Amino acid sequence: MMARSTGSLGFVGLALLLAGCASQVVGPGQPDPVNNNLYATLYLRTAAEYDALGRTIFGAAGLHIDALLSDSNHSAAIEQRGQFSELPPGVIVDVDETVLDNSAYQATLVAENISYTTPHWDGWVAEAKADAVPGAVAFAISAASRGVTMLYLTNRRCIQRDADGDPCPQRAETIENLVRVGFPEPDPGNVYLRSAEFDFDSDKGSRRRAFAERYRIIMLFGDDLGDFVSGLKEAGVTPADRDAVVARHAERWGREWFVLPNPSYGSWLGVLGDELYDQLEPWQTGDTK
Ligand SMILES: [Mg+2]
Repeated sequence: MMARSTGSLGFVGLALLLAGCASQVVGPGQPDPVNNNLYATLYLRTAAEYDALGRTIFGAAGLHIDALLSDSNHSAAIEQRGQFSELPPGVIVDVDETVLDNSAYQATLVAENISYTTPHWDGWVAEAKADAVPGAVAFAISAASRGVTMLYLTNRRCIQRDADGDPCPQRAETIENLVRVGFPEPDPGNVYLRSAEFDFDSDKGSRRRAFAERYRIIMLFGDDLGDFVSGLKEAGVTPADRDAVVARHAERWGREWFVLPNPSYGSWLGVLGDELYDQLEPWQTGDTK
């Protein structure tokens, strides 16, 4: 396992640990099931520790919000430009596995041993049945009471289902889901999906920039490094590159940038390639590393 120098990286370590635990279920040389997300999904579905983590992260954010709000020279967004001190304050949050918990969907994939597909996921989005991530609703209500606007930035994809219908029914469905679990109802103009408006670009930098033209961004929340920094989805990005990005922004974590645990999927997994067992680097007798 890669060396980790700070406690704030523990979630990635946890993800790798869980991947390792999963190897007890499907070992080397055994056929992989279609979906080997069992331990990660059980953690998200059942662990009291996951509940405690959400409360810890959003609770800690609540301790910092007043100081960041009162410092008009502060912005948490790298993309924030120009004179922003007079702009109204906002917080950018990712949606999936940041404020909405889709582990019930993940559980379906594991239980039925099927792969994620865009149409299958879109059916889940339409039902608007995701739970809230623990701690997120209380934070959102507290932010609203301070005049801070929640800005939702998700890679949920706009897909027109009927030829003459809404080109992005997923926006209204996401808002419906947020309201159902207790979030203050967002203005649809503050819910950015992956859409034609932004060339369906999965990199969130252009949408952070668009929010930063209207708001002073005081905090960012996400479960993926791409929720904070652009350019991490390019070919050739390595786990070490991602560690370096985290270290470069050491002062921001836990103050203005808050990361939620997602051991189930994410760009951390995408950079590992196809030979996942090669990434385990197991301990061997005589290994002095
Ligand atoms: Mg997410």
